[in-house]
Amino acid sequence: TKWVLTFGDGRAEGRAEMRDLLGGKGANLAEMANIGLPVPPGFTITTEVCTHFYANGRAYPQELKAQVDTGLAHIEQITSRKFGDEANPLLVSVRSGSRASMPGMMDTILNLGLNDRTVEGLATDADDRRFAYDSYRRFIQMYSNVVLGIGHDAFEDILETAKEKKGIVEDVELDAEDWIKIVAAYKAKVLAETGAAFPQEPADQLWGAIGAVFQSWMNPRAITYRRLNSIPESWGTAVNVQAMVFGNMGETSATGVAFTRDPSTGEKSLYGEFLVNAQGEDVVAGIRTPQPITEAARAAGGVKAPSLEARMPDVFKEFVGVATKLEMHYRDMQDLEFTVERGKLWMLQARNGKRTAKAALKVAVDLVNEGVLSKEEAVARIDPSSLDQLLHPTIDPKAERKIIASGLPASPGAAQGEIVFSSEAAEEATQGEKTARKVILVRVETSPEDIHGMHVAAGILTTRGGMTSHAAVVARGMGKPCVSGAGSLRIDEKAGTLTIGGKVFKAGDIITIDGSTGQIIDGAVAMIEPELSGDFGVLMGWADQIRRMKIRANAETPEDARAARGFGAEGIGLSRTEHMFFDERRIVAVREMILADDEAGRKKALAKLLPYQRSDFRELFEIMKGLPVTIRLLDPPLHEFLPHGDEAVAEVAKEMGIEPEKLQARADALHEFNPMLGFRGCRLAIAFPEIAEMQARAIFEAAVEAAKETGAPVTCEVMVPLVIGRKDFDFVKARIDAVAKEVESETGEKLIYQVGTMIELPRAALMAGEIAETAEFFSFGTNDLTQTALGISRDDAAPFLGPYVAKGLLDTDPFVTIDREGVGELVEIGCERGRKVRPNIKLGICGEHGGDPASIDFCEEVGLDYVSCSPFRVPIARLAAAQAAL
Ligand code: ADP
Ligand code: MG
Ligand code: MG
Repeated sequence: TKWVLTFGDGRAEGRAEMRDLLGGKGANLAEMANIGLPVPPGFTITTEVCTHFYANGRAYPQELKAQVDTGLAHIEQITSRKFGDEANPLLVSVRSGSRASMPGMMDTILNLGLNDRTVEGLATDADDRRFAYDSYRRFIQMYSNVVLGIGHDAFEDILETAKEKKGIVEDVELDAEDWIKIVAAYKAKVLAETGAAFPQEPADQLWGAIGAVFQSWMNPRAITYRRLNSIPESWGTAVNVQAMVFGNMGETSATGVAFTRDPSTGEKSLYGEFLVNAQGEDVVAGIRTPQPITEAARAAGGVKAPSLEARMPDVFKEFVGVATKLEMHYRDMQDLEFTVERGKLWMLQARNGKRTAKAALKVAVDLVNEGVLSKEEAVARIDPSSLDQLLHPTIDPKAERKIIASGLPASPGAAQGEIVFSSEAAEEATQGEKTARKVILVRVETSPEDIHGMHVAAGILTTRGGMTSHAAVVARGMGKPCVSGAGSLRIDEKAGTLTIGGKVFKAGDIITIDGSTGQIIDGAVAMIEPELSGDFGVLMGWADQIRRMKIRANAETPEDARAARGFGAEGIGLSRTEHMFFDERRIVAVREMILADDEAGRKKALAKLLPYQRSDFRELFEIMKGLPVTIRLLDPPLHEFLPHGDEAVAEVAKEMGIEPEKLQARADALHEFNPMLGFRGCRLAIAFPEIAEMQARAIFEAAVEAAKETGAPVTCEVMVPLVIGRKDFDFVKARIDAVAKEVESETGEKLIYQVGTMIELPRAALMAGEIAETAEFFSFGTNDLTQTALGISRDDAAPFLGPYVAKGLLDTDPFVTIDREGVGELVEIGCERGRKVRPNIKLGICGEHGGDPASIDFCEEVGLDYVSCSPFRVPIARLAAAQAAL
């Protein structure tokens, strides 16, 4: 087996495509060598050695030693130096590198091969003992830290003491004699700490370093990082051994890092920093302040020290050429590491540069305009989820933040406003065009009764609950910033105070929350508004040309519907009518209906609701101007509309002019042990058809009115929730059709409507063939379908779903990304059986999965006609649907 692949001198045994075997760093070093860039020669020990190492009780393959020797000989031959030679020593760096870039792995060791004798050889060669001993002390420190486990502090102390004694601040002011003494002190430290002298034999040093890289694959930091980022353990890491080039050889030497474009804006201008007479990570370590690479950046930053462009114009010119060549070669923005040794440029690393979402869009669009990428490639490049960063106001990165606490980043974006402690207070503060203020709704946790308060709040902050708590899920749905589970906050509702740290906030005090980071900030901070035109608009336009599926939004309020249109939704896929019932005035009528003793009483209460619902629907239809609108009949159990707790019951009873006992008795009667599987969905319409009839009437009358108003015919789709088969569906459909007839004859207008159903129970998926005989469309309600297929209640899942995912028993949270194998198969069965009976049946999905890129990919695979998601996820869905179609 080939365990070692070499590179250098214009060729390499590896290539960029061999990332799995060579790791990212090794593959790109090989690639750079192949395309003729100046790369110090070296070799890569493959990731397969790592796998072998762990599969065989931490032992290397037998042939490895000989292959490493061959690799060393390859470097020696190109550099005309010899490893361990006293007169002309070869020094190498040992660098880890896995497939995915992975912090937590072993740090790089530089200058390996130095010992008390070779250091003198290096000095002669460079004609500079200062440089040689500077290199030696760096090596001792890095090696001791990484391989021998001695902390950096021990060495920093020695260095600081030496500088103090001499009365200087900068490392570069130390001379050869100083470094010689420091090296001696370092070695003494190693002896004292480990009981053994610092290893002098270069071969021992090399194998010590190689072993440390492989061992670091299993260190706790690396394991945690892999778990958090779903990187399989089986990937392993590679080890790169490479001839040293020296940026610390005096004033004509330097080391630096650069991006070929600005990683925060995407602007096409070389962006980077360098340090003269420095080595390795000095640039990022913050010991000295690095200088800008270009003159333009230096001038813009008001920096006095010269740029690389001014200081080493030839090197700069060559570097610009290399950067351009690499960008064209990889066809993407590059992140580069380089070193200049006595005026000669060497490339040490290239990779696709990490960037903000804004920069990613600009780079992709620019590369298409530059003729480097096709539109399809540009669309494929952008991570749909990253668009979230762009769709919400964010805190100006330059603004100072007085962070006072943090919670979970439950819903992205930032918001600021006055603290309010109740939904009523939120509504009050936000009333009136001139008097409205922005508020942050601060609650221990939220419940369905808070929906109206959440709607008007700029942001939501809770002290309890996780990423799938009510507040988090609803906030994400509304596209509102939310920080949840901020456990260090104390809310005293009676006193109307919020205590954070020692500081007491009152209602009306201003705070800022950042739902992307979980930060809670004292006072107002400068914000940046989202920018939806420009590059964003261009790329979304390309995505729209590519995708097959339609994108609809889940929306019930006019604001949501308008936002959805603004984000490019092509209709409403789910309008949850119950959300319309929580308004202050309507809730009274809703409660009257629930408390009514008979059908006549219910009808009386429903008659009060009818005009409200009619105007709700009319507004939606008018905003959507002829685009399809799916309206779901009332779905949740009725007890959600009743007050909870003695105080609230007493208050509502008083308002309604009834006895609290009567209200309490009704609430008790409606109590359910398992509401998710209880008296809800079409079961309400079956027990009380008059509810569905009122809603159907409101829908149809609104359709007639809206069509008259806008001149565009309304396409409405009435959706029956939670059916178990054809019979219950037909029962409700018959009521809807009857109402449609009535409205047609009353108005003399012909209605354009369809009646369909949610497929959200396993039985419904299995009975899809029969249901499709009468249902004209299906919308897969995969939230409930996931709950019922897996037998997991979403609201109770956090304590056990976490361990499932952590222990590798489930790949992902099935409520975030659809469980393809199980729930996915039910969806497929539903599609197949439905289509067999009704070939042109309209198929869609609503629920959280409709905005999740991985789930959208699945929807494309089974050929759904559309996905529907919350308005703020519409752009994400448009892009994900395009990628799924590619
Ligand atoms: P990381 O993965 O943390 O970026 P690297 O392996 O890239 O670690 O090493 C960090 C730095 O060490 C490089 O950016 C470079 O400055 C320096 N370095 C690594 N190998 C060499 C070498 N052969 N010659 C000179 N400097 C090197
Ligand atoms: Mg590092
Ligand atoms: Mg690097």
